[in-house]
Amino acid sequence: MECVFCRIVAGELPSDTLYQDDEVMAFRDINPLAPTHVLIIPKRHINSLAALADDETAIIGHMGRVANQLARQEGIASSGYRLVVSSGENGGQVVPHLHMHLLGGRRLSDRLC
Ligand code: 5GP
Ligand code: ZN
Repeated sequence: MECVFCRIVAGELPSDTLYQDDEVMAFRDINPLAPTHVLIIPKRHINSLAALADDETAIIGHMGRVANQLARQEGIASSGYRLVVSSGENGGQVVPHLHMHLLGGRRLSDRLC
């Protein structure tokens, strides 16, 4: 298994895990860009948002619900936060396993990119 996030799901690589259920897992980013920087991923390997099949889109809602729950847990729900999903090369996706970034705990750039 080569996918780094699949290896984290399998327990082959350590992670600072904050949440998991049957379908989703959330852990702290190894290179945090903000005081709160959490990655929310589907446990099942999906390459990217672009690769998501029409009958798989419910996972995005599930990931969003987990992100909101973690934002409350991290104490950033009222101060605000940003969810980012990069897809493909121009989108800046580095790890080819669908993931959502939860970023908060400081004022983020007004520029989206
Ligand atoms: P992307 O640029 O693909 O949207 O984001 C990939 C993210 O995964 C990066 O923020 C990077 O720091 C994080 N990352 C890469 N490898 C690991 C790892 O082994 N463990 C954790 N916790 N995060 C990782
Ligand atoms: Zn994977």
